[in-house]
Amino acid sequence: MSNSEKKETFSFQTEVGQLLDIVAGSLYSNREIFLRELVSNASDACDKLRYEALTMPSLVEGNQQFEIAIAVDKKAKTLSISDNGIGLNHQDLLDTLGTIAKSGTGAFLENIKKDEKGDLGLIGQFGVGFYSAFMVAEKVDVLTRKAGEKEAWLWSSDGKGQFTIEQADRDERGTTVTLHLKKDAKEFLEDARINHIVKTYSDHISFPVMFDGKALNEASAIWTRSAKDVSEEQHTEFYRHTAGAYDQPWLTMHNRVEGVVSYTNLLYIPSTPPFDLYEPERKSHVKLYVNRVFITEETKGLLPAYLRFLRGVVDSEDLSLNVSREMLQTDPKLAKIKSGLTKKVLTELKKKATKKPEDFAVFWQNFGAVLKEGLVEDAALRDRVLEICRFNSTNGSELTSLSEYVERMKEGQDAIYYIAGEDAAKIAKSPHLEGFRAKGVEVLLLADSVDEFWLQHIPQFEEKSFKSVTRGAADLDAIKSDKKDGDKDDAKTPTLETLITAIKLELGETVKDVRPSKRLTDSPVCLIADDGDMDVNMERLLQRHGQLQGGMPRVLELNPKHGIVRKLAERADGDAVGTDDLLKDAAHLLFDQARILDGEAPSDPAEFGRRLNAVLESAL
Ligand code: ADP
Repeated sequence: MSNSEKKETFSFQTEVGQLLDIVAGSLYSNREIFLRELVSNASDACDKLRYEALTMPSLVEGNQQFEIAIAVDKKAKTLSISDNGIGLNHQDLLDTLGTIAKSGTGAFLENIKKDEKGDLGLIGQFGVGFYSAFMVAEKVDVLTRKAGEKEAWLWSSDGKGQFTIEQADRDERGTTVTLHLKKDAKEFLEDARINHIVKTYSDHISFPVMFDGKALNEASAIWTRSAKDVSEEQHTEFYRHTAGAYDQPWLTMHNRVEGVVSYTNLLYIPSTPPFDLYEPERKSHVKLYVNRVFITEETKGLLPAYLRFLRGVVDSEDLSLNVSREMLQTDPKLAKIKSGLTKKVLTELKKKATKKPEDFAVFWQNFGAVLKEGLVEDAALRDRVLEICRFNSTNGSELTSLSEYVERMKEGQDAIYYIAGEDAAKIAKSPHLEGFRAKGVEVLLLADSVDEFWLQHIPQFEEKSFKSVTRGAADLDAIKSDKKDGDKDDAKTPTLETLITAIKLELGETVKDVRPSKRLTDSPVCLIADDGDMDVNMERLLQRHGQLQGGMPRVLELNPKHGIVRKLAERADGDAVGTDDLLKDAAHLLFDQARILDGEAPSDPAEFGRRLNAVLESAL
C-alpha cells in the first residue's frame, strides 16, 4: 500500500513510557477494568460530538444515533471497542496518545511507586485510562476518523517506547480501538465475561453498548431515572465513571428542582480526597448537561470553589443550548442554579453534622479545610457555612461546633480562645495552653492555613470575639475555675522586676517586652504577640508565601512559678553591678527555648550551643 510509505514513528514521552512499562508488566489481578476505561472513552467521544453538533448539525448528518459496539474475533484473538463519536485527527492523536504526557501521568506514577502494590485500577482517576489497554494487549490499534474530516488514521503500538501513525481507510466517523490480546488474556474473548464486565462497570453509560447485536445496558442517563430506581451499586459505578474515581460516594444527592429554572442534580461527595483538591486552579468537576446533552466538565459559575470536592452531574432544560460554553457561564439562570445547589449541599451537610457526627467527621477530615474557604469567600452564606464547621479543641478528641464551645464557656469567660499553627499535634502541646488547661478553659486548635483568613472575616460568634492564646495578655484572672487552684500558687511568687530589667537589657531590640506570665504553669517561658500585633502563626504564613519580610519582635513571658525563673530572680537581685555572665546567657537561652517551643530555630544556633555548653559546664 502506498500509504505505508507514510508511516511515521514516534517515541512516547518519557513519563508515558514509564507508565506503560508499569502497566504492561504488572500482575494486577483486576485487569478487566481496561474495558471500563475504553467504554468510558467511547462514551466521552459521543458526548463531545453531540455537543459540537449543536452548532454544526452537519457533523452528524446521516448518522445521528450514537452507539458503542464491542466485537471479538476469536481467530485473530482481538477484542475491539468502536464508537461513532468525535474521532481523532493526526494532531489529536499526537496530542492525546503519547507525545505529550497529560498532567495526571506524573501523579499516577507517584501513586503507583509510593506503594509497591499501588492500585492500577485508579488509572482512570488520573486521566490516563487509555493506557490500561496494555494490561491485556500486546499490541493496540486505534483506527479513527474525526467527524467532519475525510482522512482516517491508524495509530498503533506495542507499548514498548514507540508508536506509529499512518493514513488509513475508514468509512464512518468515530474510533475503533482493537486489542491484540496477550496469551494470558484470552478470557476477554468470551461472551459471558464481556457481558458481565459491561454490566458491572458500564451499565450507567447513556449510549447503547452493543455486543452480538444487542444492547448490554439500559442506555438512559442515570439522573433522569427516578431516585428510587437507582441502586447503590449503580450510583457507585456512575460516580466512579463520572468522577474518574475509585472510592465510594460518601454522600449522594439526587434531586429534581422545578421552578423558574428547573434542573436535576445528581451530586456526590467522595469518601477520599481527589488528588487535585489543593491545586491553585480550584477547578469544579461537576458536569453540566443541557437537556441531556453534555456541555462541559469544568463549568465556572455552576458551583462555588469551596464546594469543589463535589462530583456528578447537573442537567437543566432551561439553559440555552445555542450559546457558547463561555456565555453559558455568565447566564443569570446558571447563577440561580448555583445558589440553589449551594444551599442544598449546605443543608445536607448540616443534617449529617447534627445527626451523624461520627460520619460527618470523615467528611470534615477530608474536606473541612476546603469548605472553610467559604467563610472567606461567601459573605452571603457565611453563617450557614459556619454552622457546619467543626473544630478540634482541648476539650477532647471529638470535633466541636462553635455553639457547643460557647455552651461550655466558663463563667467570666468572654472570648472564644484559639491557637493556630501548622501542625495539630504540635499546637496541642504548646506551652501557651498551660494556664487555660489548668483553669479548664477550652481552646480551639486550628491547624489549617485557611483558619487565619476566615478569622479576619469573622471577628465574633454569638457576640463572643475570637482571641488567640498566643497574642495579648492572658486575662485568665476573671475566669472562674472549676478546679481548686492552689497548690502551685501557695508558694510565694517572687517579684521579677530586677530579672526583667536585666533580661530586657541583655536582649535589647530582639524582644518587644518582657513580663510575668499568667498563661504558663509548667514551662518557664513563652513568646507571644503583643495586643494589636500580628499573630505569630499568621506572620509565619505570610513569610512563607513571600508576603512579609522579617518579623515583629515578640513579648517574652516568664513563668514566676517556675524553678529556673525563681532562681534567676534571686540571682538578679544580688547582681547589683550587672556583670553576671550566667544571667546573660540564661536570658538568651530562655528566649531561644521559647522559639524552639514555637517550632522555630534558635536565633543564632552557634551562640545557642556555646551558651548551653557554658551553663551546663558551670552546673557540672
Ligand atoms: P481521559 O479519557 O481521562 O482523558 P485517557 O487516557 O483514557 O484519559 O484518554 C486520553 C485521551 O484520548 C482522551 O482525553 C481523548 O481525547 C482521547 N481518546 C481516547 N479514546 C477516545 C475515543 N474513543 N474517541 C475519541 N478520543 C479518544
